[in-house]
Amino acid sequence: MLSAIELPIDVEAELGEKSATVAKLIKLGKASGPIVDNFKKIQSNQGDQAAFEFLRIEADGFHATPYGHCINSFTVDPCPKNLECFAGCRHLTATNLPEHIKNLKVLENKYEIALSDLAARPNETMGYNNQILHATIRLDNIRKLLKTPTGEHVFPDGADFSKINNSKSVLDD
Ligand code: SF4
Repeated sequence: MLSAIELPIDVEAELGEKSATVAKLIKLGKASGPIVDNFKKIQSNQGDQAAFEFLRIEADGFHATPYGHCINSFTVDPCPKNLECFAGCRHLTATNLPEHIKNLKVLENKYEIALSDLAARPNETMGYNNQILHATIRLDNIRKLLKTPTGEHVFPDGADFSKINNSKSVLDD
């Protein structure tokens, strides 16, 4: 769908690949949220040129992650935590895209099974309790993401994962 959307050649070149992708998503009506609201406000008050300039600066960190969209500027590209946005990153926005929903359903199932396995072999060690807490928080977050309307931030008060230095990935769990 994105490849079928055309922007004026000079605008596309000026925006760069990521901001141009966001511009096309806006044109398709597939993106919403604060950046998109501001883009539309500027476009209506100051015209296309000012709006595209705003997008060029604000949307240069666009990422289509496996679970949703992220519009953030990174010092490291891609974001080192892009596979665990769902753990509570403030930059994650929800989409209604089938591939995101499918990925989230797989994860939801994974954490449901993990919690059920843990419940079947209870013990009182700190490691056990931490595992339960870890899986419960992630399962709650995944369900929250699945319920969040398209374009909305899922964890507006969450941490900025792009700035958290942690080499451990959720895939290690
Ligand atoms: S972890 Fe946060 S900053 Fe990194 S890609 Fe995901 S939403 Fe963006």
